[in-house]
Amino acid sequence: MTAAHDLDAADTLRSYRDLFVGTDSPLVYLDGNSLGRPLKVTAERLSSFVTDEWGDRLIRGWDERWMALPRVLGNEIGRVALGAAAGQTIVGDSTTVLLYKLMRAAVALRPGRTEIVLDRDNFPTDRYLADGVARECGLTLTWIDVDTTSGVTADLLAAALSERTALVVLSHVAYRSAWLADGAGLTRLAHDAGALVLWDLSHSVGSVPLALDAWDADLAVGCTYKYLNGGPGAPAFAYVAARLLDEVVQPIQGWMGAADPFLMGPSYAPAPGIQRILSGTPPIVGMLAMQDMLALLGEIGMDAVREKSLGLTSYAIDRAADLLPETTVASPVDPMLRGGHVTLNHPRMREVTQALWQRDVVPDFRDPGGLRLGLSPLSTSYDEVERGLRAVREVLDSLG
Ligand SMILES: *Cc1c(COP(=O)(O)O)cnc(C)c1O
Repeated sequence: MTAAHDLDAADTLRSYRDLFVGTDSPLVYLDGNSLGRPLKVTAERLSSFVTDEWGDRLIRGWDERWMALPRVLGNEIGRVALGAAAGQTIVGDSTTVLLYKLMRAAVALRPGRTEIVLDRDNFPTDRYLADGVARECGLTLTWIDVDTTSGVTADLLAAALSERTALVVLSHVAYRSAWLADGAGLTRLAHDAGALVLWDLSHSVGSVPLALDAWDADLAVGCTYKYLNGGPGAPAFAYVAARLLDEVVQPIQGWMGAADPFLMGPSYAPAPGIQRILSGTPPIVGMLAMQDMLALLGEIGMDAVREKSLGLTSYAIDRAADLLPETTVASPVDPMLRGGHVTLNHPRMREVTQALWQRDVVPDFRDPGGLRLGLSPLSTSYDEVERGLRAVREVLDSLG
């Protein structure tokens, strides 16, 4: 196997790593899928926002730039990372809140249908929300059982679909295993059954190329603080296919999603287009940092980012086989079925993770016994992966 330093030397994207804060320190960061590192230029963007925009433009900033920012950034995310034409994506609330809004909107678009289909290993917020929406709307949940080292396949989905299915809620990359679902194929299956699909893109956007328009996707939501490096709590984005925009009605009818917010009229009429997904005043400060990462991803292109991502995850899997033979890979070994992280299982990984954090090696832990290595493509080097896996070896040895 090629050594880490040779892989770094041959990596055409290696110089981008220097653009991130902290990459010159010995700390090993393997959790970019939970919180991406900041870009160095972001410090300047944040401080000039305070002095030049907020401090100087004051309330005029809303008219001049801020009011349009949710749609401007939505279009940029769509263009750079989602394969979505303009006018279908908006930046708004948290992922959780946007998932709720779009789940409610979706089931309202399929009156008479009574089921929401989802898998038992979907991210907790998705499962809890679906449970609440089902109760509010008098629906039932149809669960797909999945192997926690893989995810939802076409066969599993086909067996769960029926003429009763209103909505299918799926993660594109599974948060635990990194299983990469077949976006186009599963969307087609659901459509053949007359159902809509809501894709959770939190673990794919910015690491795996997406093609929502080409998939004929209906609805999607994703995080911006993971592989889009928007910073802790940065607002999420929502995508609604153009063909659904006139019909879609979301349940939090606030003034910012109304046709004319400043008419202050007696009743709510939804705005035309994607603006209707908003509810209240958009969190502008939270939308600043992601702009720097989007610019970088736009410059590099998602295909090159994916190539680096596959290089890193393949390296981690190969090295784990050599260095950590007592662990098992709980992620797809086939790169075409894998997103941007790798999970290694071992009964003692909870203790291992605690010990690693104390040594400035920062992966994260997911039950049961999963050490999750999130390999953010632009800010992670092969050498960092190597140092991280060697640290796991040392900690496992020290635990005896
Ligand atoms: C990280 C993540 C979320 C987080 O939702 P928040 O509302 O930002 O807390 C949701 N879904 C998936 C699949 C995630 O990976």
